[in-house]
Amino acid sequence: MVYKTNYNYLLSDLSILKGVGTKTANILKQKKINTIFDLIWKMPKSFTDRSISSKIIDLKIGENQTVTVFPYKYSFPRVRNLPNRVFCKDDTGEIECIFFNSYEGYIKKILPLNKEITISGKITLFRNKYQLTNPKYISEDSSIIKTKHNNYSLTDGISEKVYNKIINQILKNLPILDEWHPTHVSNKFQNIRWNEAIIELHKSENIGLYKKNFYQRLAFDEIFCTFLVNSEVRKKIKKNKKDKKDFNYEFQKKILEKLDFELTNDQKKTLNEINQDLKSSSKMFRLLQGDVGSGKTIVALLAAINVVNSNFQVAIMAPTEILARQHYMLAKKIFPKNFNIELLSGKSENQAKKDILKNLINNQINVIFGTHALFQKKISFKKLGLIIIDEQHKFGVNQRKNLSDKGGNNCDVLLMTATPIPRTLTMTIYGDMDLSIIKEKPNLRKPIKTLSKFDDKIEEVIKFVKKEIDLGNQVFWVCPLIEESKKIDHSSAIKKFEYLSNFFPNQVALLHGKIDVNEKEKILNKFLKNEFKILVSTTIIEVGIDFPNANVIVIENANKFGLSQLHQLRGRVGRGSKESFCILMFKSNLSENAKKRIRILKDSNDGFKISEEDMKIRGFGDILGFKQSGLKLFKLADPLHNLDLFELAEKEIKRIETTGEDISKFKPLIKLYDKADIINDIV
Ligand code: ADP
Ligand code: MG
Repeated sequence: MVYKTNYNYLLSDLSILKGVGTKTANILKQKKINTIFDLIWKMPKSFTDRSISSKIIDLKIGENQTVTVFPYKYSFPRVRNLPNRVFCKDDTGEIECIFFNSYEGYIKKILPLNKEITISGKITLFRNKYQLTNPKYISEDSSIIKTKHNNYSLTDGISEKVYNKIINQILKNLPILDEWHPTHVSNKFQNIRWNEAIIELHKSENIGLYKKNFYQRLAFDEIFCTFLVNSEVRKKIKKNKKDKKDFNYEFQKKILEKLDFELTNDQKKTLNEINQDLKSSSKMFRLLQGDVGSGKTIVALLAAINVVNSNFQVAIMAPTEILARQHYMLAKKIFPKNFNIELLSGKSENQAKKDILKNLINNQINVIFGTHALFQKKISFKKLGLIIIDEQHKFGVNQRKNLSDKGGNNCDVLLMTATPIPRTLTMTIYGDMDLSIIKEKPNLRKPIKTLSKFDDKIEEVIKFVKKEIDLGNQVFWVCPLIEESKKIDHSSAIKKFEYLSNFFPNQVALLHGKIDVNEKEKILNKFLKNEFKILVSTTIIEVGIDFPNANVIVIENANKFGLSQLHQLRGRVGRGSKESFCILMFKSNLSENAKKRIRILKDSNDGFKISEEDMKIRGFGDILGFKQSGLKLFKLADPLHNLDLFELAEKEIKRIETTGEDISKFKPLIKLYDKADIINDIV
């Protein structure tokens, strides 16, 4: 046997495998399994222990069992739809083998009369008789099938037998790759090699042994590779030398004097970190992370001032026009009068748009606000020096890198997100960026009071809402989407709108995903201007928009939402100085888990803490934003359970960054694991 030492085998197309024809290959491709490497992660979910065989009397109904029997009679009823049957017995009882769509000849061959035959499959009971339908394993030699057998979670059209065959073939041909980790790392996993670990992973007796060295090693490989790629991307971006921005802190100070509040310590700290980047000669690629209402906007705007004063342009992009407009209005208010600030809106007149485009090329505009439309091809800047992107959490590392490239060498990049996520996830998802975190919130803010109510108490809730409206306040009323076979249903929001309109005629408006963007903006603007009192909506109200006059949010069917999502929704109120309320409504009887979740929300207003708890309860895949973004992070690693591996990976990356170690030995690791395909030109 010649062992392969090259990873190319693993990246080969599945069609090179024996037993994989175009049909099987196509089925797997639809499941995004394209290469042998992809298929390796199709792991056994359970196994049937066929080594234990029972007597008929001991058979367990509903389970996969193996039993040795004597077939003694056939029944081949030549009537359509009636199955062929073989009656079998042992010294303790009887069992019938049932065959649909099998020929007599075949049945006679596999179950000859009066011979001892071992059969295996799921046992059922019908009219008080044991039955085995289409027995899977039939052998005259009972030792052959009395073995452990892996059950793979099946893909339509591919049988378990085929999976077992293909995977065994792969395992036999696994290349023996040179160890990419240094000894002090592989020691931690008892020096188990990559290919050995893969083989262990597929052993049925190892299912669920997450703490074993083979599993930990493979999980570490994934984490480490992600971090390494992140680190390389960051290094690459930093290598771009740029013109430093001139700095005069007086400009920032003047604006600060105009504000009616003082920056929090975290705002000061993060602003300083951004300032240092702008002043330096390497490109900024930074994420400003802070909970809803932590005051990121002002930090970003302050950062923009010295960029403009260095004669560079600034582009500020928000996910919606309304939010872009709010940022624009704030900038108009606080920026020096000699700054030329514009808003590029979908609604701007053609001539106005043309003027804006022209003035961007001429460097007549200093700061431009807008949606992602700012990054259309037809828009060019004369001297773009800073891109700020608000409320982004759906970009992957690839898109971010493209963004940074697009801005050109002199362009710094600042992203902002209000999605607090656990640290392990931050390292994974944003590891290519430098990170500034705002933890503390402005202390002027009163905490939002969070209450829970069952649906049958809706009249109390309405009374409460009425009282608040009489005080001049406004209310968000959120209904979840009802998802029926992927058709998203807005009926609950529509019904609630009708219901509430009875109590509050002409004071309620409705917003949901089917309403077009322009109409949506109109409704939100009316709500902002206090032209109506209650906004019933699905979850589409965007993060980030300031509705200072809204102080109550009612969230129906609250157990449909994750904790972080509830926290984000709750963050839509409590931005003004009034006391604000979040009312969580539930159908009835809450599970222990649900109660626990509500308690966490009531007790804490700290998005970071809530996201950690959310992850503990629901697993990391579900927490806000990631499921929707379709981001599949890892095959084995779990940010919740493998904290130690994340920390080890972080330590290793730091070590590699400081020693400047050659990373070419990680080439196979990156080639195999780096889905983003970003740094292939580096190694
Ligand atoms: P987010 O971090 O969610 O983007 P914003 O920047 O929209 O938060 O700020 C929310 C509100 O808090 C704004 O109305 C803003 O004027 C106000 N704010 C920001 N910083 C402070 C502060 N240090 N003290 C008091 N209020 C502040
Ligand atoms: Mg914001």
